[in-house]
Amino acid sequence: MIYLDAAATSAVRREVLEAMWPYLTGDFGNPSSHHTVGESAARALAAARASVAAWLGCRASEVTFTSGGTEADNLAVKGIALANPRGRHIVTTPIEHEAVLESVDYLVRHHGFTVTFVPVGTDGLVSPGDFAAALRPDTTLASVMLANNEVGTVQPIAELAALAHAHGIPFHTDAVQAAGWLDLDVHALGVDALSVSGHKIGAPKGIGALYVRGRIPIEPVLHGGGQERGRRSGTENVAGAVALATAAGLAGESRQRNAAAASAARDGFVAAVLSEVPDARLTGHPSARLPGTASFVFPGTNGEAVLLELERRGIVSSSGSACAAGSEDASHVLLALGFDEDVARTAVRFSWGAEVDADALASVAPAVGEAVRTVAALGR
Ligand code: PLP
Repeated sequence: MIYLDAAATSAVRREVLEAMWPYLTGDFGNPSSHHTVGESAARALAAARASVAAWLGCRASEVTFTSGGTEADNLAVKGIALANPRGRHIVTTPIEHEAVLESVDYLVRHHGFTVTFVPVGTDGLVSPGDFAAALRPDTTLASVMLANNEVGTVQPIAELAALAHAHGIPFHTDAVQAAGWLDLDVHALGVDALSVSGHKIGAPKGIGALYVRGRIPIEPVLHGGGQERGRRSGTENVAGAVALATAAGLAGESRQRNAAAASAARDGFVAAVLSEVPDARLTGHPSARLPGTASFVFPGTNGEAVLLELERRGIVSSSGSACAAGSEDASHVLLALGFDEDVARTAVRFSWGAEVDADALASVAPAVGEAVRTVAALGR
C-alpha cells in the first residue's frame, strides 16, 4: 500500500513514541503537583515548550499547548478577536480550514462581528492588493493560512502580515499543513499568532500549539484551573507536548533537504499524471505550493469513485480535506478557486511525507491513469 494522504494525518514516528513513553508510564505526573513526580512532568513540559519555541523562533512563554490545530485556530481567532478592543470586524479568506471559518462564524452569530472574505485567484493565491483593501479601522484580526490543506497553495504571509501591521491589526496564520515543509520562524513570517498540529508531522493526534506574540491580549476559550498561563485550562498533555517537541525537532533537522527532494518528486508526478490523463488539471498554484501535495480534478469522473479505484490498486488518497471527504458537498476551497460544482466533485488529493520518494510517486501515475479511465468508462 502506498499512503498518499499525509495531509490528513501521519504515523507516529518511532523516535517520537520513544520520547513520549516515559511520560505515559514512570514519569506520569501532573505538572501542577508539588511533589517529585509532578516536578519531573513539569520539567519535561518546560523543555518541550522550549523546543517548540526554538522551532518557531519565539519565546517559550509565547507557546500555548492545545489539543491540536482545531483548538489552536479556535483560540487564535476567538481569543484575539474577543480580547482586542479595536472593533468587531475580521478579515480572512474563503479557503481557510473549517476550524478558522467556523470560529469566525461563531463570532458573527454570537458576538456581532462582521467578516470580509478576501477572494482568491484560480491558483488559490490571495492578492496583497485585495487583502489591503479589506482592512478597516475596526478590523480586530486578520487570519490567512500559510498553506492550504486541499490544493497546497502557499500564501505570501510575510507580505500580508506587514500590510495588517501597517494598520495595527494582529495577524494569525494557520501553519498546520506547512509544518515540516516550510520555515515557521514567526519573526521571518511577521505573524502575531500561528497554529500547528502534531499529527501532521509524526506526533500523535490530539496535540498542537498556538504561538501568540507576547504583547497581544487573548481571551481563553477553555476556562478552568488556569494552566498554560491562564490561556488554556486543563491538565497538560505532557506526553503529547514532548511528542510535538520531538517531532518538530526531527522535522527541523531535515526540512530543507526533504522539501527540495519532495518538490522535485512532486513536479515529476504532476507531469506524469497530466500526461496520463490529458483532461486532468492540477489545482492550486503551479509553483507556490507545498512540496508534498498535488491535487487534481478529473473532469468527467467522480472523485470518490476514482479514490475507490485507486485503493483497489493499493494507493490511498483523498478527495480533499478529511472533513469534506465522504460528504456530498463540493469542496468550499475548489468552489472559491472558481471551479464548477460538477468539476469540484472530481477532485483527488495526493499528499505525502518525506518517506515517499520519487520512484514511489512515479509508480502511482500510471495507476491514476487506469483508475480515471475506468471510472470515466463506467460513466460514474
Ligand atoms: N488547519 C488545517 C489547515 C488543517 O489541515 C487541519 C487538519 O486537517 C487543521 C487545521 C485541524 O488540525 P487538527 O486535526 O489537529 O485539529
